Amino acid sequence: GGEKTALVLHDLHAGYDGAPVLHGVDLALRAGEILALLGPNGAGKTTTCRVAAGLLAPRTGQVHAAGRDVTRQSPVHRSREGILLAPEGRGIFPALTIDENLALHLPNRTDRDAVYERFPALAARRTVGAGSLSCGEQQLLALAPLLQRPPKVLIADEPSLGLAPRVVDEVFRLLTELRDAGTALLLVEEKAAEILGVADRVAYLAQGRISWCGPRAEVEADRLTEAYLGIA
Ligand code: ATP
Repeated sequence: GGEKTALVLHDLHAGYDGAPVLHGVDLALRAGEILALLGPNGAGKTTTCRVAAGLLAPRTGQVHAAGRDVTRQSPVHRSREGILLAPEGRGIFPALTIDENLALHLPNRTDRDAVYERFPALAARRTVGAGSLSCGEQQLLALAPLLQRPPKVLIADEPSLGLAPRVVDEVFRLLTELRDAGTALLLVEEKAAEILGVADRVAYLAQGRISWCGPRAEVEADRLTEAYLGIA
């Protein structure tokens, strides 16, 4: 791993019960960048996230974080090292209040007040059950505590899935703030237009391999078509 390389996926081969999906995925994320992973359905984007987060062991290949080999480490161990998988809004407890949910991550009152200042919609309803929030607000509640302690690496698999457009903007703004705080973000998205607004670099996954990776400015419109049609 290099000086500023937060996460390296090296020659990953992985799949499910005799169904290989990844055929040698190579990716490197620097601290303080958003790398968008695009590709057609079934290309292996979710599988890549699962291997990076430690939910699925690769058949061969390695995952390095901050220069250390974490390939054999559990998701819990990786999260202690600052490599997190974004909770998809399911990381909240609907029966607990908003404040109680936040307190699970931020026992310090001052930290919670900072979240309320940043998200007034949560502040206004801090004593109501989190289950009464919309899906988008639940997603924000799940992600907001990260701003107080930005992780080294955040792996987010379609964090805007099923959310209303206005909340999608808020989720992306939050992710951008994490990036600016130094987090390396691996972001899988279906919404190509939105992703190009926040990504620093873009990688295309096609048939289990990275077929193109480069700065956002070098992405051409027809490359997106390529990514979605899987013509590499
Ligand atoms: P999508 O955009 O559709 O989510 P993706 O790029 O995230 O696609 P993956 O979810 O990684 O792709 O799936 C890659 C391949 O692995 C697909 O063919 C899928 O059917 C298969 N697959 C995914 N999960 C499993 C599983 N638990 N068991 C068996 N096969 C699976």
